[in-house]
Amino acid sequence: MSLTTATNVDRAELFIGGVWQKPASDRRITVRSATTEEVIGSVPEATEADVDRAVAAARRAFDDPRGWSTWDPADRAAVIERLADEVDARSEETVRAISQQNGMPITIARALEAAYPSATLRFYADLIRTQPVEEQRPGLFLKSTTIRRTPIGVVAGIIPWNVPQSLTMTKLAPALAAGNSIVLKPSPETVLDAFILADAISAAGVPEGVVSILPGGRDLGAYIVSHPGIDKVAFTGSTVGGRAVAKACAELLRPVSLELGGKSAAIILDDADLDLQKIGQSFFTATLANNGQVCFLGTRVLAPRKRYDEVVDVLAALMQYSPLGDPLEDATLFGPMASKAQQERVANYIEIGKSEGGRVVVGGSGRPDGWDRGHFVRPTLFADVDNTARIAQEEIFGPVLTVIGYDDDADAIRIASDSEYGLGGSVWSADPDRAMGVARAVETGTIGINGYIPELSAPFGGVKQSGYGKEFGAEGLAAYQQVKSIYHFA
Ligand code: NAD
Repeated sequence: MSLTTATNVDRAELFIGGVWQKPASDRRITVRSATTEEVIGSVPEATEADVDRAVAAARRAFDDPRGWSTWDPADRAAVIERLADEVDARSEETVRAISQQNGMPITIARALEAAYPSATLRFYADLIRTQPVEEQRPGLFLKSTTIRRTPIGVVAGIIPWNVPQSLTMTKLAPALAAGNSIVLKPSPETVLDAFILADAISAAGVPEGVVSILPGGRDLGAYIVSHPGIDKVAFTGSTVGGRAVAKACAELLRPVSLELGGKSAAIILDDADLDLQKIGQSFFTATLANNGQVCFLGTRVLAPRKRYDEVVDVLAALMQYSPLGDPLEDATLFGPMASKAQQERVANYIEIGKSEGGRVVVGGSGRPDGWDRGHFVRPTLFADVDNTARIAQEEIFGPVLTVIGYDDDADAIRIASDSEYGLGGSVWSADPDRAMGVARAVETGTIGINGYIPELSAPFGGVKQSGYGKEFGAEGLAAYQQVKSIYHFA
């Protein structure tokens, strides 16, 4: 077994307004491998003074009469495409840094964190190139109206640690395409990939002032969100964090989009093909990817009562045969949790599940055999769980599935929607029309049929406690634009 420590990055400067600058304080963030717990890098921690400098630089760039915000969209698109190339050139370095920091298995990191970021940049470069800045609409009361799209100003992007680069790009790419400046705050758990991105931005020739990357924790995030120089906030993170951000933005009447937690349902209809050879990989992606640390996963598996035991057996096999180990190895499907806190949280939920009477079919308490270092937990399958149980209602954010029985399709829809969240989900069936009927009825922002993976060209976002606002698709660009109506009287 090779527990490669390939990163070991020590950086002295912060990326403020597109320029590497000496940080205002000598505070540092030390990054440890989620697998070995060894130090793999260290970067400066940004402070409020650094935020002030970044916001001032962003504001200057935005207000410059010949600056980024005023460029022809095709010229911005060309720079964004250069950035996509620079990101691609660093993708293997990036995915290795992410795997080591948050435990994401490398093959999953390549599928998500190598594929999505540059594709997102190219998608928004294409969109801004083809979208007219102004369009005419015939009026009902007036002759016509000009609808003019402009950038919003200085955007704050707050990023979680679980899929850090893809979630950075859902903000950076449309914000840049629309002509905004942006201040990004990565989580302290995943800062090394953020510095690699900063190198890419520098190499791509994004003009000065337009992008800053300021690593720091919750307090720094709160400072950025309320900063008087910020015009819009885009937050991805927990529902608790999102609520705090929403309150701050409400007070300031500051536009905010919130991509928050989830507890989605994977609904297996009674005609579903449960052959693991055929559905194993896509079912794993939809329910367990990235060690369960993805917001949209269908961690409540709804099983028809007449096939309940079969579903439990199939899931047990899927979890038992998915290799656990060093996330840098290609064969690994389960790596460690991102942090000690996350490991403890998941372990605690496994105890809660047992105390609630859930039947442990796979896994359970304690560390997996042979892994006495690293933030490992045992992937755990609970059966005989009621949808009112805490492990069925609360977001665990780890490799823990609960199987909940249902009577008929209407019952499955009711249980799937009986959640304070509504972000993802999936329906598994041999009959596309029947699956479509169920997909239409579930209260959620997104849902897949016989699989789940977000589609770049379609809006992604939650309902209820999963937040508001959309990322991806044309809707994701609109979130970074203002529209002005100019009424024509003659
Ligand atoms: P978190 O809320 O603790 O932190 C997320 C980010 O917000 C971090 O950068 C953090 O420093 C910052 N932050 C926290 N509180 C803040 C505050 N009051 N003001 C400003 N910034 C603040 O979440 P996490 O533990 O890092 O990430 C996991 C959570 O993110 C899960 O709940 C998951 O479901 C959610 N998530 C949602 C999506 C989505 O698209 N809906 C995607 C990924 C993760």
